[in-house]
Amino acid sequence: MRRVVVVGGGIAGIYFAYRLLQATEAEVLLVEPKPVHEFVIGIPMAYGGLVDFKDLIFPLTQMRRVKHVWDHAVALDGRCVRLSSSQSVCGDYMVLAPGSYKLGTAEYWSVEGSEKLYGLMKRAKAVRFVVSEFTPVMGFQEIAYAVKTRFPDKEVSIHLVYVSDDYQFLLEPWKAKAKEAGVEVTGDPPPHKAVDELHISVPAVRPHPLAAGLDLRPETLETQYDRVYLIGDSALLKLGLPPIGWGSLWQASIVAQAIASEISRGYIDISPDEWSSQTDADSFKRWLTYRMVTGTPLVHLKGLYQIWARNVVSSL
Ligand SMILES: Cc1cc2nc3c(=O)[nH]c(=O)nc-3n(C[C@H](O)[C@H](O)[C@H](O)COP(=O)(O)OP(=O)(O)OC[C@H]3O[C@@H](n4cnc5c(N)ncnc54)[C@H](O)[C@@H]3O)c2cc1C
Repeated sequence: MRRVVVVGGGIAGIYFAYRLLQATEAEVLLVEPKPVHEFVIGIPMAYGGLVDFKDLIFPLTQMRRVKHVWDHAVALDGRCVRLSSSQSVCGDYMVLAPGSYKLGTAEYWSVEGSEKLYGLMKRAKAVRFVVSEFTPVMGFQEIAYAVKTRFPDKEVSIHLVYVSDDYQFLLEPWKAKAKEAGVEVTGDPPPHKAVDELHISVPAVRPHPLAAGLDLRPETLETQYDRVYLIGDSALLKLGLPPIGWGSLWQASIVAQAIASEISRGYIDISPDEWSSQTDADSFKRWLTYRMVTGTPLVHLKGLYQIWARNVVSSL
């Protein structure tokens, strides 16, 4: 049986394993330094009170079809990764999904960090997000909307101190949409910080160190190394795309199709979704504007969460 090594048990790694095992038989090893999978896309739901923070955590010991290698990958060597224990894990295929490297201390990208930040937010009279980065860690907008919905008396604002020229067109529709939710979006810096205010400097994302030196083909996500793939936030960043979870799901699906077809039929056969940006730039821009200014509604996340818990994670 072919062995597939997956590095990183986040959104991309878990969805990849699910799609692969739906399509073919394979031995799947998951290298993940945490004992759990965290459904980070769902964190804003916990701010909004739709789930508890602990509901977003899934123990990896529950997996029956995937073997958890509880360690950090420190270096890539062909289709092997060296672990921090200095052992190596090798496979017929290597799928790297280590997420992105985050620069900053406002740790709302982990369930534990988010819960701590939520404790601070609950006590603050005003919560202000300050964005001064081209590629910020996603989710601050959804958190801002969730906090305002749950605590309508709080002042919640987003200060876009830096917006690149490419995204200037989003500013006015974003301001208008946020206003409907009671959240102020502005290009001005935040006012002087009063003692009962929380100012959150939104962290930045960069490709993970494991992805350094990797080139990838946008159509297949294969790197310059045969049967070594890169998916998730780092792959999106390397392709110049925003590091969002929907992009990770799309990439995980493509690579699962590629590997499954090669294992079962001997050749790569994929049918990626067509990007409407390639065929109709105007309608894509309208869609992008809508998506970016509304954020992902919590009710959509709740639906995705239920599918994730009942179908995706439990099948592994
Ligand atoms: C609060 C919040 C809300 C968000 N909301 C949305 C949303 O509504 N819609 C949307 O599309 N996107 C959203 N995003 C973005 C989305 O969550 C990310 O794009 C997505 O999680 C990226 O998936 P990933 O698997 O690449 O990385 P991650 O989910 O970060 O997973 C990476 C995994 O790799 C592991 N890892 C790291 N280093 C190593 C190593 N050396 N060896 C082995 N494993 C390693 C980590 O422990 C982790 O488990 C949100 C993000 C946040 C923080």
